[in-house]
Amino acid sequence: MLENMNEKCAVVGIFGHEEASKLAYFSLHSLQHRGQEAAGISASDGKKLRTIKDRGLVTQVFDQEKLSTLSGRSAVGHTRYSTAGDDSILDAQPVFARYDLGEMAIVHNGNLTNAKEVRDALIEKGAIFQTFMDTENLIHLIAKSSKEKLLDRIIDAVQRIEGAFSLVFLSRTKMFAMRDRFGFRPLSLGRLQNGGYVVASETCAFDLIGAEFIRDVEPGELLIFEEDKAPQSIKIFKPEPKRCIFEYVYFARPDSNVFGQSVYEARKNMGRELAAIKPVEADMVVPVPDGGVPAAIGYAQASGIPYEMGIMRNHYVGRTFIEPTQEMRDLKVKMKLSPMVDLIKGKSLVVVDDSIVRGTTSRRIVRMLKEAGAKEVHMRISSPPTTDPCFYGVDTPDKEKLIASNMSVEEICEYIEADSLAYLSEDALLRSVNAQNESYCTACFTGKYIV
Ligand code: AMP
Repeated sequence: MLENMNEKCAVVGIFGHEEASKLAYFSLHSLQHRGQEAAGISASDGKKLRTIKDRGLVTQVFDQEKLSTLSGRSAVGHTRYSTAGDDSILDAQPVFARYDLGEMAIVHNGNLTNAKEVRDALIEKGAIFQTFMDTENLIHLIAKSSKEKLLDRIIDAVQRIEGAFSLVFLSRTKMFAMRDRFGFRPLSLGRLQNGGYVVASETCAFDLIGAEFIRDVEPGELLIFEEDKAPQSIKIFKPEPKRCIFEYVYFARPDSNVFGQSVYEARKNMGRELAAIKPVEADMVVPVPDGGVPAAIGYAQASGIPYEMGIMRNHYVGRTFIEPTQEMRDLKVKMKLSPMVDLIKGKSLVVVDDSIVRGTTSRRIVRMLKEAGAKEVHMRISSPPTTDPCFYGVDTPDKEKLIASNMSVEEICEYIEADSLAYLSEDALLRSVNAQNESYCTACFTGKYIV
C-alpha cells in the first residue's frame, strides 16, 4: 500500500458548455465537504488543456480572473482530502500530462489496492514518478499502452488497476468517466440546461448548477463524451456492486442522492432504528453537528423525546479530522463545538453522532456537556463500531488507532466518560439504507474486505 492515496475526494466533469470551468467551479464548491486540502480544474478549448490547482478551499484557489483563463467547452475538477503528514501541492489534482497522443488530465476519487505493484513494475521499466498518487500510475499506463486510440489505451489501463476508482479523463476533444466494477465510490450523470453533460461525485452538485440527474454511472461502466453525440456507454467490467456504506453514514452531503437513495432519509432511518433498538429515558435528543443531525431527528421522532440544539458548531473551523497530529485535533474539537449551557443544565441528554473513530471527539463532547451541567449523557452512534481501516478511499487511521478495534463497547463508554453508549447494528444500518448486504461494502465495521 502506498502511504499517500487518493482518499475521499470529489470529482467533477463538465462537457459541452461555453462556461465549462465555471460550472466545474460551482460543482466543486458544493462538493467541498469531500475534501478541503486542495482544489483544481483542467479545461480544454479543443486545442489545448489548461490546469490551475493549489492548496486551499475552492473559493481560495479560484477567482474570476483565474477561471477566465480556463476557457473551453469541457472541464474536469477535483477537491482533495488531506492525508497525514502530506501537504504537497504535487499531490493536488487534476493530474496533467503530455504524451504521444496529445494532452490529458485525470481526476480520481478512491484508491487503488495494487498501486504499489503497478508502480514498481513501471519504475523497473524506467518510469519516473513525481508524486505519491496512484493516479500517476494511470497516466503512465495510458502513455505506455501500445494501442493507437486513447479510448483503447484507457480500457487497457483500467484493466491493470484494482481497487476503488471513480475517474474522469479529459483529452482535448473528449471526456471519459469510469467507475470500478464494485462501484465503491459514487459517480452520477446529469444533463446541463443547454443539453451538455455533467458527471459528479454527488448529486448536490447538479442542484447548484441547475442540472438534471439522469442516472448513476454503473459499476464497471465507461462513459465517453463527444461533441454533438449522446454519451456512449461501454461495460468494461461485469458489475459486482460493493458500494461504500460510509457514504451514507458520514461522508456524503444529506441533500445528495447517493447510490439511488436520499442520504438524508437514510440517516433519519438510522436514527429511528437506533431509537428502536437502543432506547433510553432522557429529556432531550442532542445532535453532534453537523454529522449527527439527521440521525438525531430520526431518533427524536421515533422516541418522542424533544430534539434540541444542545451543542453549537462554529462553522469557521475546518473539520477536526483533517489535522495530522493528535494535539491539533484536540484543540480543533474545542474550537469547533460549544455547549448551550442554559438549555442542558441539569438535563439528561441523548447525544447522537454518526461515528466514533479514535474517540477524541466523543470524549471531549461528553466532558464538555458534563462541565456545562448536563446530568446524564447517553451517547448513541448511528453506525456500528468502526473496527477496521478503509482501503477503498475513506480516510481512516490505522487499525491500532481505531478505538473500537481495541476496546469493547463498555470500555469505550468508560473511556469517553458517558453514562451509556450504544451503536447501531450492521443489520439495522443495512435496513436503513434499504440495502441487500451483498451490494454494500461494510469492511470498516466488519473487516471483510473484497479486494
Ligand atoms: P474521533 O474523534 O476520531 O472519534 O472522530 C469522530 C468524529 O469524526 C465524528 O464526529 C465523525 O463525524 C467524524 N468522522 C468520522 N469519519 C471521518 C472521516 N473519515 N473523516 C473525517 N471525519 C470523520
